[in-house]
Amino acid sequence: MQEITGNRTIWLLLTLLLLSGWLFLAGCENNNDEIVEVDRNNDADVVVIGGGGAGLTAAIEAADRGADVILLEKMSFLGGETLISAGIVHGAGTSVQKEKGITDDTWADLYKYWRRTGIFHNNSWIISVVTQRVPERIDWLREMGAQYEPDYLSVSGWDMDNLPMRAHGIAGGGSELIEVLSNRAKELGVTIYMETKATELIEENGRIVGVRTEGEVTELYAEAIIIATGGFGASQEKIDKYAPRFTDAVPITASGVTGDGLRMAQEVGAKIENMGGMIGYRTSGVSGLAGLAMRPILYVNTEGKRFVDETAFYALMAEAMIKQGGTVYQILDKKIYEGLSEDVQKTIDDAVENEQMPRKESLQELGEFFDIPGHILEETVAEYNKSVAEGLCPLGRSADTLVKVEEPPFFALPVKLAHLGSMGGLVINEKTEVISETGEPIPGLYAAGSVIGGFLGYVYPGSGAAIANLLVTGTLAAESALDFMGK
Ligand SMILES: Cc1cc2nc3c(=O)[nH]c(=O)nc-3n(C[C@H](O)[C@H](O)[C@H](O)COP(=O)(O)OP(=O)(O)OC[C@H]3O[C@@H](n4cnc5c(N)ncnc54)[C@H](O)[C@@H]3O)c2cc1C
Repeated sequence: MQEITGNRTIWLLLTLLLLSGWLFLAGCENNNDEIVEVDRNNDADVVVIGGGGAGLTAAIEAADRGADVILLEKMSFLGGETLISAGIVHGAGTSVQKEKGITDDTWADLYKYWRRTGIFHNNSWIISVVTQRVPERIDWLREMGAQYEPDYLSVSGWDMDNLPMRAHGIAGGGSELIEVLSNRAKELGVTIYMETKATELIEENGRIVGVRTEGEVTELYAEAIIIATGGFGASQEKIDKYAPRFTDAVPITASGVTGDGLRMAQEVGAKIENMGGMIGYRTSGVSGLAGLAMRPILYVNTEGKRFVDETAFYALMAEAMIKQGGTVYQILDKKIYEGLSEDVQKTIDDAVENEQMPRKESLQELGEFFDIPGHILEETVAEYNKSVAEGLCPLGRSADTLVKVEEPPFFALPVKLAHLGSMGGLVINEKTEVISETGEPIPGLYAAGSVIGGFLGYVYPGSGAAIANLLVTGTLAAESALDFMGK
């Protein structure tokens, strides 16, 4: 009996010891500064969600530093919007510019330009790091074989007449960029699960430790999760919610970018910022004439009035179109028609036949098509032709590139508001850690590319901005995640 009592005392002491040990450890687990010890093996050091430009950049950088990396892509192909993009990267003070003889452009100039065109809603630290690091990222791409060459430099942005050539083009566009990045990721041994969709982040003790998926695997655990799922340009529901000005815009985007990363991060408490803008663009209301719709030829609104400098940068043009209700018309004449390729002429003839666009012998009749007094269109065209003759555009830039509308028959091509994907998204800090509604980093969770919100304002600043952002934030996400792991 005494022996049993003695044993009980020992057991009681042991239990108290274990309990206090457990309480001590539990205290450590709740402290975000400590690495949480989890009783399971991780599948990788880093899991990257999304196989577009940002995801591939992050995966390459992490693998290059010796990390075990898994990349998830929900589609059957890699690339996302980056694949269908022109692959242009905006940068100042680059090796490519120097090879072209442009030596006086600096990151600080680009910083000022991006901050100003973001109307200071964008985040100064992101703009600062992207402008400073993008020249080195362009060299990194060139070293891997991407053909960013001086001949493909161009001007793109709000004030086209006053900007240097900073838009760095690549010979093979976005598909070449993705080919270069995916080849390098494979070379470095990144494990890629195709047709595997991330559905939910796994949280343990206030830290993101994994992701639930549908596809080749159902659950993956890692030290760090990087969200690189792109924007929400393919989700009508999210456009209606976050950017209703673009509700009726034609989406020109990749089908996989439905804002999954935004949703998953919000479900674990992430904060979002700078919602409301989209990359504004335009397209033809008649299929096969998208190229024509981009040309600087007289545009009128539904009242037959000119409303914009036709040579304006596409995102500013989109803003002007929104003010006119979305759909506007391009006015063509015989001379313009005859200058088009035979294929385009045939498409116009078919559209006229199918009553998709009018062809009339006078501007008076064309005006009646719009249900407006015909003389208004006549007056608009006369005033426009006068501006072209004088080389002065009352709405803005020089009219050198505009052409007159003079000879019948006249045509009206419907041009619709479009977008090239979303702007606005997750709030991140200098380490690209995702920030919660309460302002704290969510441990273990990083984000890069178009899923983040702080880089752009409400109107897109110029071709190449989004890819500059994904190259730098993708790199930063990998660096920060690996620094955290001590790798
Ligand atoms: C026609 C067009 C031309 C453009 N041209 C340019 C240009 O020249 N220069 C420029 O700077 N910008 C351009 N842009 C914008 C730019 O391409 C994008 O903003 C940018 O490429 C986005 O990169 P990202 O890596 O963040 O996302 P994406 O490249 O879109 O990649 C996101 C990836 O994540 C995948 N994904 C999404 N959800 C999940 C999930 N739940 N699980 C797994 N995978 C998921 C998607 O399928 C996709 O592959 C253009 C856009 C378009 C549409």
